[in-house]
Order: sequence, then C-alpha cells, then structure tokens
Amino acid sequence: MVAAEAILRLMPPIDLSSIPPRPVTRFAPSPTGYLHLGHVANAVWTWGVAQATGGRVLLRIEDHDRGRCRPEFERAIVEDLEWLGLVPGGERRVLRQSDQDRAYGRAVLHLGRQSPVYACQCSRADVAERMRADGQEAWDELRYSGTCRALRLAPADGLGLRVTLGEEPVEFDDLRLGPQRQTPALQSGDLLLRDAAGNWTYQLCVAVDDTRQGVSLVIRGEDLLASTGRQIMLATRLGRKNPPRYLHHPLISEPSGRKLSKRDGASGVRELRAAGQSPETVLGEAAYRTGLIPAPRRLSAAELGSLF
Ligand code: GLU
Repeated sequence: MVAAEAILRLMPPIDLSSIPPRPVTRFAPSPTGYLHLGHVANAVWTWGVAQATGGRVLLRIEDHDRGRCRPEFERAIVEDLEWLGLVPGGERRVLRQSDQDRAYGRAVLHLGRQSPVYACQCSRADVAERMRADGQEAWDELRYSGTCRALRLAPADGLGLRVTLGEEPVEFDDLRLGPQRQTPALQSGDLLLRDAAGNWTYQLCVAVDDTRQGVSLVIRGEDLLASTGRQIMLATRLGRKNPPRYLHHPLISEPSGRKLSKRDGASGVRELRAAGQSPETVLGEAAYRTGLIPAPRRLSAAELGSLF
C-alpha cells in the first residue's frame, strides 16, 4: 500500500507532445561543490525526458564564477555522473563556461548595439540599500533601480556591466507549470552581464550557451523559474528566433522520516556512495522525492525514460 501522502505528492503526467522532436537538452552543474540529491533529481528529469523523447543531454560546466569554482569539483561531478550511469551526448562532450570568454564578450557587444550597456559601480549591498530607501522589500530578489545608467562611467576593472531592459513582458509556456508571464525590468531591473570581479554572469552565460549549443529544451528546478524570462529576453536580443521549451521541475522534498544513509541528512552523492548505497537506490530516491514515483524503489539510468 502506498501512503496517501505519497499519492498527493505524485506528479500529474507531463504532456511531452509539444516538445520538438529529438530535443537537445543539457545538464549544467556549477562546480562549486559536490553533486547532491538535488542535482540527481535534475539529472533524473533531464535524462528521463531526453530518453522519452529521443533527445540527448549535453554536459555543460557552469564555472563562470571563477572565485567559487574548483577543478576538483568538476572532476568529481563527472565521476559521480558516470557512477550513476548517466552518459552525456554530443560531439563536444563538455562545454566549460570558463572557455567561452570571447563568445560572452561578443554577445555583450551585440547587446550594446541594441540598447545601452553601461558600467555600474553599485555593490549588492548598495542595491539592497537603495531598495530599502525606496520602500521596497529586498528579501525576494534584488532589483536594480538604474542608479548608474545616467552616470556614463568608463568601463573599468572593479566595475560591473549592465544592459538596459525595456519594460516589455516575456511570455512562455512551461511544460509543467503552464503559461507564464514575466517582466524582467520589474523583477531584476537592468541585468548585470559582468560583475565587479570580472565574472560573466549566470544569466548572460546561459542565454549565450543555450543558443550556441542549440539547446531546444531546458529542464531545471523551479527555483530558476524567475530567470527564464530574462534568458529568453537576452537570447532574443542576441538573435535567437525560437527560444527553447522549458520544464521546471519540483525541488527535492524532505523524506517522511526516512534516511537514505546512516549519516543524518546526508544528501551528497559521495556520502551516499561511501555509505554503500547503489546508483539505482539514489536515482530512485531522487525520482520519489520529486513526485515521479509513489514510493522509493530502485531505478536504473536506462529506465528513466519510462517515468515520463
Ligand atoms: N548552473 C545552475 C545550477 O547548478 C543551473 C543552471 C540552469 O540549469 O540554467 O544551479
């Protein structure tokens, strides 16, 4: 018997019929730490939908933030994926964002030909302070009010770069969450493209990479839903005609009193491996905890397509 609680949490089936044939999707971890169950859940959804639709999964290492990423985490991610039995496809097997400097630089020039790109001296603390002064809550996300837009600072080391956004909304149809309408100018304000430390930002890198890699389907956790309108807006400005389809999946929920490993709360793939768990148990747990199966069971990488 399956617990009522589990049935309530079970996902309604996702209609994949509107996905373009043989989609190209991607698994895009940031090597700022080891893989954990949240990443495994994303992998289960990504490889599962790719298998179910005849698509393939590209591996992209999102190491745009040079201060936080470490090569040993990248190696560990690749090794843990292999252990799970998840094989990326594509000719260039791995795209590393730290190798794409020229592409991001060109994209910023392209964006700047359409609407002003300007240097910005505001720190995150400055933006938060300004929001408070304007009577806005800063707990959700920081919204830049455009303080430096009129200053015409010369771009320089130690300054960020932002692109001016118009107030037009962006609409897209999420495969799980349905029609969405977002207005990036009201959510984030003018987007940061490069930070004061000289790192290209997540939003820019993803918009550029998804376009250059021909990604037609983006599958990621719903914590990234708010970024999607921005990425579509940037990609459109960069000349992309058809944005990817999007599927934002649920985040891992807490198990009801069960523990996967002896160590309380362990969710790192390395820890689970060290505790003697099998890849099938770990994949099954991630599927269960994102509502794909009503009760935990062993799942092999080759079976993931049957969940969709
Ligand atoms: N690199 C991001 C992360 O690890 C994922 C980005 C994306 O899927 O767009 O959370």
